[in-house]
Amino acid sequence: MGSGASMREVKNGDNLLGQAERDSGDVSVNAADGRYGSRLRPFTSPGTASSQSAAKCVVMDNSSQQEVTSEQAVTEDDWASGIYIQGKGTVMTNMFEEKAKVCKYLDAESGLWVLLPLQWEMNIDFVSERIKQVMGALPGLVDQKEITAALRQCNYDPDKVISVYLTTFGDVLFRPSAVEQNHSELNLFRSHSEKDSVIEDLRQNLQTEEKEAENQFQRNSNLAHEALYLSDMVQHLNQRVAELEAEQQDNLEKITALLNHRPPLSTPPTRPASTPTPKPTMDLRQLHQVSRLTRELSCSNKQLRSVVHQTLADIQNQVEEAVGALEELRCLYRMEVLERRALNNEPLELHGNIQVFCRFRRLSGGLSCLDTASDQELLVHNKGTTKKFTFDKVYPSNTTQEEVFEGALPIITSCVVGYKVCILAYGQTGSGKTYTITGTKDEPGLNIRSIRELLRMCKGKENMAYNLKISMLEIYNDSLNDLLSVNPTGPLEVRTQGKVISVPGLTHIEVRTEDDILNAMEMVDKNRKIGSTKMNRESSRSHLMLTLSVEGTDSVSGLTSCGTLTVCDLAGPKHISKTEAKGQSLVEAAAINRSLTSLRQVFTALKSNAPHVPFRNSKLTHLLQPYLSGDAQCCVFVNVSPDVNHVVDTLNTLQFGYNLRQIALGKITQHINPAKNTKADK
Ligand code: ADP
Ligand code: MG
Repeated sequence: MGSGASMREVKNGDNLLGQAERDSGDVSVNAADGRYGSRLRPFTSPGTASSQSAAKCVVMDNSSQQEVTSEQAVTEDDWASGIYIQGKGTVMTNMFEEKAKVCKYLDAESGLWVLLPLQWEMNIDFVSERIKQVMGALPGLVDQKEITAALRQCNYDPDKVISVYLTTFGDVLFRPSAVEQNHSELNLFRSHSEKDSVIEDLRQNLQTEEKEAENQFQRNSNLAHEALYLSDMVQHLNQRVAELEAEQQDNLEKITALLNHRPPLSTPPTRPASTPTPKPTMDLRQLHQVSRLTRELSCSNKQLRSVVHQTLADIQNQVEEAVGALEELRCLYRMEVLERRALNNEPLELHGNIQVFCRFRRLSGGLSCLDTASDQELLVHNKGTTKKFTFDKVYPSNTTQEEVFEGALPIITSCVVGYKVCILAYGQTGSGKTYTITGTKDEPGLNIRSIRELLRMCKGKENMAYNLKISMLEIYNDSLNDLLSVNPTGPLEVRTQGKVISVPGLTHIEVRTEDDILNAMEMVDKNRKIGSTKMNRESSRSHLMLTLSVEGTDSVSGLTSCGTLTVCDLAGPKHISKTEAKGQSLVEAAAINRSLTSLRQVFTALKSNAPHVPFRNSKLTHLLQPYLSGDAQCCVFVNVSPDVNHVVDTLNTLQFGYNLRQIALGKITQHINPAKNTKADK
């Protein structure tokens, strides 16, 4: 905004401040630009905060008017905080003290200037003009109250509001053609942000509970040590008691013997003067004392024994209670892990089941029959007519591999949390399917980028151990070849056991590093080459299917997840009549067309909710069954050539993609299994 505009705005602001403030002496003149500004009242004692950084975000003016805000109770500690913003992570927030315009009305009764509530403020010319400016620049922002609130915060500077919203929400607010949708996208974005913050809270709760569990563990082990020590002590005391009892018995016997041999007291014995009188070893008084002491000792032993037994029973109870509490914590943790996963994946489930993306191949000379109308709409020009198609996303010719990968990323990464996902590339030969799925060495496609990203994600997850395995299949003439086998044998078969579809004998290779991926791809190239020379064929005459299984184990809860990602580069349909194919080529072309026809039949049956879906009509559809049976997320790339000479094929492909968008497969589920052999599962 230029300086002229800002001066004009300042004058309006001055009017709003009104006479009462000037009279009360609470209005100060900004020496730098001569503007009136409302004086700020500090909320802490002077000197507690620097004037630039800390105070509060609501500007007050004079003390004579009752602007009632709760911020007066705000302490220094409450100024700084943090918030989680999707796409930005956790960011720091702070309350800043800044000069701001305040809109007030003159209350005739009291003669005071009173803050005008938002509801009315948005209707005054000064504000409504600015609201219009913001809405003009950001058609996606439609809530006028929200804009008014933002204007208040930005000192009624519409440029500032626009820049704040763009920084926070990005260019989703630019799209003028889909105001309602953008609005709902914004709300969705906000609701996701709220969920993210709930997840963050849950994560913090978990951390606290984990710490508590650890303390409990520590206490338990201390108690166990104590119990061991006490039981040793009891054993020792028991032994001592037995010894004392034996001693007591011995003493009693001695006393009895002495009493028996004692001479009668009435007639003292007359002894010959020559024989010396034997001296008794202990007198009677001493013996009674010993007897009494022994009895007391025995009694206190009994008491001690009962005290020890009682203490042991108490310790046992405490240990049992602690173990119970620990199990409860484990259960809570497990539930929270599941809840977090559900929250994380809600955006994925909102999308319905088949997403269709359209990608244009780069034009290699000639005229283009394709145009994009928006990032979801494309136009096909054919013999003077134009047809429009809508997809979940349209990628024009200049789209990079990275951009395409980013579009499919949410689907791809969901296999880490236990979803089954599948990506198919469909289109005429030469339309860019292999380029999209496999790409080149310098510009790798979806498959390499997906494995890389999943490896990276799996490494960075706390408390989780992952195992990633890949397999690669080629479907040629409706037979399956293992592309990762060191010694490829004959074709493999598909096996169905209940809902599980498998290929016995198929090689699965564990991938841990980027080198493992490259080695696997080398092996695939080698096996494809051998196959093609042996059978006189080339890669575009077979379907290629890469499957990546991601098994995760949560080391704390013991839950395991099992997700799979299948990426399939389909062979293009063949024009048998045009190419006048003969012999082997004719067989190949017919096999490809047959399998693609069965794929179309499967989609048609799914679209019409037919009771029977003919998955078993081809190996291709049989293998894809788990991904098309309502329990997986499926995403199809329709690849098209923009060349006018291919317009008929392009229209066929687009129609195929358009039909796919009408299919709803139902809600997908995560594959999470309970912990194995843990006490809590009993
Ligand atoms: P398909 O697998 O559908 O038969 P390819 O992926 O093999 O087609 O593409 C045919 C040719 O066009 C290849 O040389 C490929 O590198 C090139 N190509 C396809 N799409 C693009 C693109 N978006 N950008 C650059 N080159 C492309
Ligand atoms: Mg190809």
